[in-house]
Amino acid sequence: MKIGVLALQGAFIEHQKTLIQLGMETKQVRLPADLDDLDGLIIPGGESTTIGKLATEYKLIEPLRQFAATTPTWGTCAGLIFLAKDIGIERQPILGVMDVTVNRNAFGRQRDSFETDLSIKGLDDGPFHAVFIRAPSVTDVRGDVEVLATLQDGTIVAVRQGHLLGTAFHPELTDDVRLHRYFCAMV
Ligand code: GLN
Repeated sequence: MKIGVLALQGAFIEHQKTLIQLGMETKQVRLPADLDDLDGLIIPGGESTTIGKLATEYKLIEPLRQFAATTPTWGTCAGLIFLAKDIGIERQPILGVMDVTVNRNAFGRQRDSFETDLSIKGLDDGPFHAVFIRAPSVTDVRGDVEVLATLQDGTIVAVRQGHLLGTAFHPELTDDVRLHRYFCAMV
């Protein structure tokens, strides 16, 4: 099983390190041909406008869209924004494959970043320490999208739709490998 990590900008090395720790084969995706032999893909956190701009430049938007339409794909933070079908009034390139509405920078500016413990459906052996960095939130889910985690006030921060996974936080920045293991099981 080989899992690619979109390596245009953002926290892609950290995702690769965790995948390697779990014994997975992994590779950096920068060009359409890099997707050819992959069983799954992680789109990292970073800056979604930059990721969108570079993906457009490298002619990756359509190949990524087709890949994510059929193959397990996980977006973390900016990656979740990139997967969403609806990002409100924002105008930037996105894949638009997941039936969620995502609100960018939902918690405010960089200094409003925070960490908190989450209860995540599917990870039943204790809370997950989640790092939110200028994170988005999910404001609406449609169709068969399943909510996997919310904050105490009900804000949705983790979602799954079949082979698509989205988290508003950064699991690759902690030592907890359970969400990566969960995604590998999806793959
Ligand atoms: N605020 C960033 C954006 O809008 C996402 C931040 C992140 O990925 N940590 O793209």
